[in-house]
Amino acid sequence: MRIAVLRETADAEARVAATPETVKKFIALGATVAVEAGAGAGANLSDQLYTDAGATVGDRAATIAGADLIAAVQGPDASSLGGAKPGAVLAAILSPFADRARIDAYAAAGIDALAMEFMPRITRAQSMDVLSSQSNLSGYKAVIDAAEAYGRAFPMMMTAAGTISAARVFVMGVGVAGLQAIATARRLGALVSATDVRAATKEQIESLGAKAIFVEKVAGIQGEGSGGYATEMSDEYKAAQAELVSSHIAKQDIVITTALIPGRPAPRLISDAQLATMRPGSVIVDLAVESGGNVEGSKVGETAVVHGVKIIGHRNSASRLAADASALYSRNVYNFIAAFWDKDAGTAVWNPEDEIVKGVTLTRGGAVVHERLLAA
Ligand code: NAD
Repeated sequence: MRIAVLRETADAEARVAATPETVKKFIALGATVAVEAGAGAGANLSDQLYTDAGATVGDRAATIAGADLIAAVQGPDASSLGGAKPGAVLAAILSPFADRARIDAYAAAGIDALAMEFMPRITRAQSMDVLSSQSNLSGYKAVIDAAEAYGRAFPMMMTAAGTISAARVFVMGVGVAGLQAIATARRLGALVSATDVRAATKEQIESLGAKAIFVEKVAGIQGEGSGGYATEMSDEYKAAQAELVSSHIAKQDIVITTALIPGRPAPRLISDAQLATMRPGSVIVDLAVESGGNVEGSKVGETAVVHGVKIIGHRNSASRLAADASALYSRNVYNFIAAFWDKDAGTAVWNPEDEIVKGVTLTRGGAVVHERLLAA
């Protein structure tokens, strides 16, 4: 099996889908690996390191020629894959709902497209879960970004010149990113509180030493849908949540928002009126900015200042820690391919009935086959 590793071309994308470490592991499995020149530059991985690991390095055309599997971080334009052999498999984060035409173009080009972000949330697939590996880093980086933009210290400091009080950090949305944000803010010495719609997170928040802020008065709400993800909440719940947030947020210095609902725009959690109650100099990091934003007034790729509050809306947060994000993403891709490796055949065999393969396959044999895309 020949694996091609692309150089990313999207804006604000510094990650790479294979590192010299995973190249060695692929070769140990029995694969050959071709890497596009410059693919690792954003993660400080030179072409020489890939060559030393046993890969060949060349231009895009040479890289994809004859490839059985093309690995990338973000889905490339189908037109940039001219020369790929029919039936070649593409494994990347494909964002089909943001750009459906690109998926149709893969099908038309005979490329079997596998969306890494559709990895089922089952135990067997945990080591292949790119959303988890990347969200973890985003949650950490959000707190570091907030600390940098905040003109004050995080921990309480008792000095001869007087006491500095600890920063108050509020984390909204306690999935993978939110849990890491809580842990990071705690390590920096902040007083941390957090909220989520999923009742199960209350215990997780408390176990990290943070205070859980929960809507109590709307009965029967668990907020959890399939696969452990959140569901869209009722109007009654949203009103109760807004009231709770309003009374809490005015006392916060830093807010990190991470709330997402799969396949839907991100829920709006902070309104302009609520921003107006925050102290000038406070900082919000909206990690959901690219999915529509949790915060009114947040802007993709910008830091907006509204009522004196800085709202940070970085694109592609994980890519801002490109070396670690690439290392984890690459291991996710390796674990995925290795799980389907057939030693005798010397290649990965993608059984279409397998739960994981079925979960990630968007196109096969020239057609769009994923049920979520067919239903859209
Ligand atoms: P996510 O990125 O989809 O959403 C982030 C968080 O926002 C979630 O906790 C969600 O409940 C919350 N949220 C949504 N709407 C909200 C609202 N209106 N107000 C406040 N919070 C809101 O979530 P995620 O990080 O992908 O994690 C979702 C769940 O999946 C977690 O329980 C996680 O532990 C689980 N998970 C399981 C596996 C596995 O089993 N393989 C892997 C990764 C994550």
